[in-house]
Amino acid sequence: MDPQKIAIIGCGPGGLACALFLHQKGHAVSLFERFSQPKPLGSGLLIQPSGQHILSALGLLDAIEQRASPVHQLHGISVANGRRALDMHYQHARNPISALGVHRASLFQVLMDAVQKEGIAIKVDKKLVHYEENPSAIQPIFADGSATEKFDLMIDASGARSPLATGNLRKLSYGAFWATVDMPHSHAILSHALDQRYWHAEKMAGIMPVGINPETGNQGAAIFWSEQPDNVDQVIAAGIGRFRSEFCNLWPEAEPFVQQIQSMDALTMAIYGHRTGSARTSKRLYHVGDSWHCTSPQLGQGANMALIDAGALAQAIQGANNLDDLSKKYHQSRVFHIQLYQALSIIFTPLYQSNSKTLPWARDFVIDNFARWPGVRNFITHTVSGVLGLKFPM
Ligand SMILES: Cc1cc2nc3c(=O)[nH]c(=O)nc-3n(C[C@H](O)[C@H](O)[C@H](O)COP(=O)(O)OP(=O)(O)OC[C@H]3O[C@@H](n4cnc5c(N)ncnc54)[C@H](O)[C@@H]3O)c2cc1C
Repeated sequence: MDPQKIAIIGCGPGGLACALFLHQKGHAVSLFERFSQPKPLGSGLLIQPSGQHILSALGLLDAIEQRASPVHQLHGISVANGRRALDMHYQHARNPISALGVHRASLFQVLMDAVQKEGIAIKVDKKLVHYEENPSAIQPIFADGSATEKFDLMIDASGARSPLATGNLRKLSYGAFWATVDMPHSHAILSHALDQRYWHAEKMAGIMPVGINPETGNQGAAIFWSEQPDNVDQVIAAGIGRFRSEFCNLWPEAEPFVQQIQSMDALTMAIYGHRTGSARTSKRLYHVGDSWHCTSPQLGQGANMALIDAGALAQAIQGANNLDDLSKKYHQSRVFHIQLYQALSIIFTPLYQSNSKTLPWARDFVIDNFARWPGVRNFITHTVSGVLGLKFPM
C-alpha cells in the first residue's frame, strides 16, 4: 500500500514495535498512550527465540541482550512426590537459541529509546475509549473528549483490557504475585533457568533471572507465587512474614531471594484473562498483541506474540493492494499460530495452576517419564520457543 497515516494506540511491546516497523517502511505514525509517562507494569518476562527474531529485524537484539540474562532451561519439581513437573532445555531445539530473561522495563526502554531516536510522535494522557470511521478515514476518540486528526488506519495495541477488543475476556482462576529482587551472591537454585516448585497445582513458586534489575542496577531475578484472586486481600492482610514463610516452606532454597522482599507493597498481583478476539474489527481498525488474543503467561508467549503481530501487520500493510487484501494477508499470516497457542494455553495452564488433583498427578507422571523422549522433547522445546506453527514475518 502507499504510505499511510497511522494511529497506534498503546506503548506496550506491540505498539512500540509496530511504530518502528511502520516508520521504517515510510508510513506516518503517531503513538497514543493513556499514561502521562509511558511505563511498563510488572516484573520479568521471557523473550523466546520467536520474539528475538523480531527484535533482531528491528536491530534491537544486541541492546536487549546487554540488559538480559540467558535462560537455557525451564525446570520444575513437584514437591509432593519429588518428580520433575517441568523439564525443557532450549539446546534441544533444531536451531538452539536460549530464551532471554529480561525485566519488562528493559524491553520497554530499548523499544522506547528507538522510537524516540526515530522522532516518532507520542501523544500522552490519551485514553482511547472509542473511534469513528467513515469510508475514507478513521478517528480515535479519547476519554478527555479531545478531537484528533483523521487517519488512514488505526492499530489497537492497548492490551488485554482494550475498550475495542472483541470476544469475552474470561478471568482465569489463578493469577500470581510478582516481585523483582537482586540475584543473591550465593544461592542453591539453578542458574540461567526458570525454576519452579509446585504443590499439586494449587501452589506454584517460581524464580527466573531477568538481567539488570532497573531499580538497583544489579543482576536481578523475578519471583512469582500463584494465588487465586479471591484470596489476595487475605494474603496481603496476613503480611510479608507469612508470605515469606509460605514460599520458603514450599521451596527452602528460595530464602535468599524471598528475604529481600521487605513488605507486601513490593509485590504486584497480576490477574490473568483468556480471550481470542479478531484481527480487525472494521475496515480501518486492526489489533495487535493482547488486544487481539490474551491468555495466562504459563507458556511465556504474550510479549513475543505481540512483537510477531507487529512484524506481520507491518509486512501485510506493505504488501497489500487495498484494505480487504490487507485484512486477508494479516489474518492468514497469524491466525494458525495464534489459535494453536491459545489452545495449548487452555490445555497446559490447569496442569500448573488449578485446584485439580488428577491433572498435576498426570503432569508429573508424563513429564517425569516421557519428557526426554525425542518426540515429546521436540514438541515441548518448539512449543516453549514460540516457533510451533509460526510463519516468521520478515
Ligand atoms: C505476570 C505476567 C507475566 C508475563 N510473562 C510473560 C513472559 O514471560 N513472556 C511473554 O512473552 N509474555 C508474558 N506476559 C504477557 C505479556 O506481558 C503481554 O502479552 C504483553 O505485554 C502484551 O503486549 P501488548 O503490547 O499487546 O500490550 P501491553 O503490554 O498490555 O501494552 C498496552 C499499552 O497500552 C496502554 N493502554 C491501555 N489501555 C489504553 C487506552 N484505553 N488508551 C491508550 N492506551 C492504553 C497501556 O498503558 C500500555 O502501554 C506476562 C504477563 C503477565 C501479566
